[in-house]
Amino acid sequence: MAVIDVLVIGGGNAALCAALMAAEAGAGVLMLESAPREWRGGNSGHTRNLRCMHDAPQDVLEGAYPEEEFWQDLLKVTGGLTDEALARLVIRASSTCRPWMRSHGVHFQPSLSGALHTARTNAFFMGGGKALVNAFYRSAEHLGVQVRYEAPVDRIELDDGRFVAAFVGSERIAARACVLAAGGFESNRAWLREAWGCNERGEWPADNFLIRGTRFNQGTLLKFMLDAGADAIGDATQAHMVAIDARAPLYDGGICTRIDCVSLGVVVNRDAERFYDEGEDFWPKRYAIWGRLVARQPGQVAYSVIDAKAIGRFMPPVFPGTQADTLPELARRLGLDEARFMQTLDAYNAACRVGRFDHTALDDCRTEGLAPAKTHWARPIDTPPFYGYALRPGVTFTYLGLKTDETAAVRFGGRPSDNLFVAGEMMAGNVLGKGYTAGVGMSIGTAFGRIAGTRAAAAALKERADAAA
Ligand SMILES: Cc1cc2nc3c(=O)[nH]c(=O)nc-3n(C[C@H](O)[C@H](O)[C@H](O)COP(=O)(O)OP(=O)(O)OC[C@H]3O[C@@H](n4cnc5c(N)ncnc54)[C@H](O)[C@@H]3O)c2cc1C
Repeated sequence: MAVIDVLVIGGGNAALCAALMAAEAGAGVLMLESAPREWRGGNSGHTRNLRCMHDAPQDVLEGAYPEEEFWQDLLKVTGGLTDEALARLVIRASSTCRPWMRSHGVHFQPSLSGALHTARTNAFFMGGGKALVNAFYRSAEHLGVQVRYEAPVDRIELDDGRFVAAFVGSERIAARACVLAAGGFESNRAWLREAWGCNERGEWPADNFLIRGTRFNQGTLLKFMLDAGADAIGDATQAHMVAIDARAPLYDGGICTRIDCVSLGVVVNRDAERFYDEGEDFWPKRYAIWGRLVARQPGQVAYSVIDAKAIGRFMPPVFPGTQADTLPELARRLGLDEARFMQTLDAYNAACRVGRFDHTALDDCRTEGLAPAKTHWARPIDTPPFYGYALRPGVTFTYLGLKTDETAAVRFGGRPSDNLFVAGEMMAGNVLGKGYTAGVGMSIGTAFGRIAGTRAAAAALKERADAAA
């Protein structure tokens, strides 16, 4: 290839959106993906949907999900730790991106029943994230985008905030503009360990974390850019963290290891004690706090306990739960102190004030006089068989990233670079200071990937024109 116009570093949704937009704008594009071809696509390959604003029913989406409601949802889950202008930009972009995605071969389908109350808010990818990634790669190759696999970038040459070249080992790859879309640092266990440190019990909590997605998001470039003086956003301990099946593999367990029955039962820790309101809000708005909650418990383990009434009301996990006909037997099988477990369950059962159970609404089934309370969907756990699932914190993606603005530019001392842009997990912390609402990761990556690609192409084509003049 002659001098490259736009170099895209990464191989997931954000990188692909950037590469496609840059190619559509007429730029020559090279993508560098650290994974081998069969593992390409990063965490994006594990996804199922993206959250979309819409004012009326639209193809696969029911009802309406107006900008203000989306914004209020984000405001609530982030506790205000979000940049309103960038968040609204993502929200608005989510209402117009699907026709463009379709034009690159992505197909959508309605929400599956049992999939976290998402029929109104989230558009599901037919065939999941893997199909989306494959469609985008096909379209990118069709548009002439060059892709190199097993090409991990370990450093970048910068000149006063301008991108000059990227290095894959000793190979130097120069380009007129660059998009960084190389994910967070969630796969880097040493960095997670350092960020989470040692707790008051002398434990290193991160040693017990599992990584839900790719092993390739090592944060090498993020670290390089932070050390090189790029403006940072977010806190290294903030991440999307889900409580997942403790039997999940260290990497790439994906969606099927999630345990979605928390709001239908109770969760106890290793000491057989409850520690948080399992019915605080709808599961899609709360599932991403449970990884962090479990991370704070002794041994970073917890147990989701349900009875037969819950079966059929949540997406079943891939591995069957521990089953028992009585609660004491369940305690024994889970390795929990039987007396303490029964005290906790008896207190919970006695405190339930059952009203009209409705798992699709914030119903009036709650506990009274119990701490912590269960504020919705509280029904006694009394109908055998009983089930228990051991939970571990599952890290989805980290929020420490590069600060950016509505142009997706990387910034140095508040000054935007004119040819270096960022998208996806590497900047998601601008919108997500903490918390999460299902599907917003792909909304952020798609919005900023497209902006970054457009801006990078414009910067490269301008430089090309200036050089020719
Ligand atoms: C199990 C699971 C389920 C999820 N489900 C959803 C969902 O349904 N909806 C949703 O919105 N979000 C979901 N997410 C979050 C979502 O995956 C991310 O928000 C989104 O994919 C981020 O896209 P990205 O392109 O920034 O990162 P990624 O898709 O992770 O891509 C990063 C890429 O960079 C590459 N890379 C890393 N380092 C380097 C380097 N040094 N040089 C070159 N390449 C490098 C990686 O190999 C990878 O290809 C899920 C995540 C997981 C793990």
